[in-house]
Order: sequence, then C-alpha cells, then structure tokens
Amino acid sequence: MPHPETWLKVLPNGLFCEPGGFYIDPLRPVDRAAITHGHSDHARAGHRAVLATADTLAVMRARLGDGAGQSQQALGWHEPVTVGDVRVWLSPAGHVLGSAQVAMEYQGSRAVVSGDYKRVADPTCAGFEPVACDVFVTEATFALPVFVHPPPGGEIQRLLDSVALFPARTHVVGCYSLGKCQRVIALLRQAGWDKPIWLHGALAAMCEVYRQRGVALGDLRPATVAAKAELVGAIGLATPSAVADRWARRLEDPVVALASGWMRVRQRAKSRGVELPLTISDHADWNELNTTLDDVGAPEVWVTHGREDALIHAAAQRGIRGRALRLLGYGEEEEAAEP
Ligand SMILES: [Zn+2]
Ligand SMILES: [Zn+2]
Repeated sequence: MPHPETWLKVLPNGLFCEPGGFYIDPLRPVDRAAITHGHSDHARAGHRAVLATADTLAVMRARLGDGAGQSQQALGWHEPVTVGDVRVWLSPAGHVLGSAQVAMEYQGSRAVVSGDYKRVADPTCAGFEPVACDVFVTEATFALPVFVHPPPGGEIQRLLDSVALFPARTHVVGCYSLGKCQRVIALLRQAGWDKPIWLHGALAAMCEVYRQRGVALGDLRPATVAAKAELVGAIGLATPSAVADRWARRLEDPVVALASGWMRVRQRAKSRGVELPLTISDHADWNELNTTLDDVGAPEVWVTHGREDALIHAAAQRGIRGRALRLLGYGEEEEAAEP
C-alpha cells in the first residue's frame, strides 16, 4: 500500500493528488480542482475543471461568475467518482453550506482533506461526518486549549437578552457573508425571533443563494433603505468591516456585536469596539479538533493552516504522527483573518 506521502503532494499551487491529476483548494488557477467549500481562500477563480458539491458550485457561481470554472462537476455526499487512478468522494464538513471533506483512495491507501470544519450542529448545512483514513489533513484555526467555544444557542440568547434590555437601540451583528451570516439568522429563527432581520447590502446575495438552495431564513430586508425608526429595537447584520465603520454609527445608538470564534479573546473584542462579543465559530474548537483525531483514527495527521504546534503535540501524545504543511494563503477570509 503506497503511503499517502508518495501520491498526495504539497506543491506551490497547493495540495496535489498526483495519480488523480487534481489539486484540492489550489491557491492559483489550475487545470483540475476539487473544492472543499466556497470561502474565497479555498475556492479561487479561474480553474478549468471544478469538482465540488452542488451547493458549493452554486456559491462559487454567485461569487465568481465566469471564474467559477469552465466545467463544473457536482458530487452528492458519499458518491464516488474515479479521477485518474483515484477514487474520490465527498463527506460533509459542517462548516458552511456545501462544505465537504475530500476523501481519496489510491491503491488501498486513503487520505481525507477536511477543509475547514466544525462538529457543532448548524441548521444551515449538513453535519460533519468522520471518515476513517490513513492520513487526515486537518485545519487548525483554533487549535489551542484556550479555544473552547460555548454552545451557539447560549450566545444567541445573550443577543436576544440584550435586545430586550435595550429596546430603544439597534443591535448590529458583524458576521461574514458566507456561512456565519446565514447561521446567525437561522439560530435567531430557532430561538423564536420571527421579526424582520435587516441586512447590510454586502450580505444579501449570499442569503439569496442559501434560500435558493433550500435554507429557510425568514423575513430579510435591506437595511440600506430602512428608516432609522424602523430599526429601533431591531436586529441588523452587517459585514465585520461595516460594523466597525460609519455604517453602524449612522444608526441611532447602536449596540455593536460581532459573531466570531475570536470573540473568545476579549481583548480582540475590546480593541475592535465590540460591545457584545458573540463567540460563534464555524471552525472546530480545541475539543472538536481532538475528538476528530480520535474519530478518524488516522495514524498520521497533516495540518494545513492555523496553530499547528499544539495540535501536533496533542496528536503525538496519542501516538499519532503529525506534520505541519504550513500552506500559506488559507485563512485570509472568514474569521481566520480576524486581526
Ligand atoms: Zn472556510
Ligand atoms: Zn479557510
């Protein structure tokens, strides 16, 4: 059985599956790419042939237009295809709509690339499913013991408690346009908030993609045309840069919130002027990362990006061999990019 090291290689363009002739989340335009999910650091423009879930392809078309790939092949969950000499299939990663782990098998040797992932239930996407493998290629955005994310329902309740406490103010929640925004909306709906939710213009397009792909988000309205009076006591969502900017300040006495795994670090919230930090993350926390190493049972773990040292140390304590790939170029979007 060939070791995955001999057929899954780190090249300047990213992770390359040699006997399949394709890259996974390549950093530059390539001939063939398998894409784990639609965040811009993973789904870049200009590949010729793209393999991904139908949801990820829809996200890519919305974000990249013609850059979403000259030819696109949609794969259902666990639906194997043969690419070159490799059997490839996708398993849910639980990160954002359509997000997948790429599983590859070559001559009886199996490697799985997680992409970004989380284990906590998310009403807007399919839940993470561990795949047993010989090499597990994982992210490590929050791979430090200090990062233990609280249950998201409790964070949403803190937001609703604040809305009840300050009925004359507008609550504005900063969140990334793909994934976090729709998850916060869905969590608010689950918690019983059925009033309109007001959206900054940069968030509307991706909400529409989610809706077209069957994710119910309720009554969403553009905040740009809303009269200030309508926003009193309301909840609005905006990009993290917009909440830090004039956009939020033109509202009447806003309560600025930010939904991010980094809000666990209170100093970051303070330095960004966030009054109500909400620790809601689309990345696995320390416990989820460790549980996943146990679940996939791989004797070897490769870490793509993030805090690899602590995770590799924790893996070594269990007899798992760790390897830092130090792939540059990931974590440039979404919450990984938070200063
Ligand atoms: Zn991502
Ligand atoms: Zn990422």
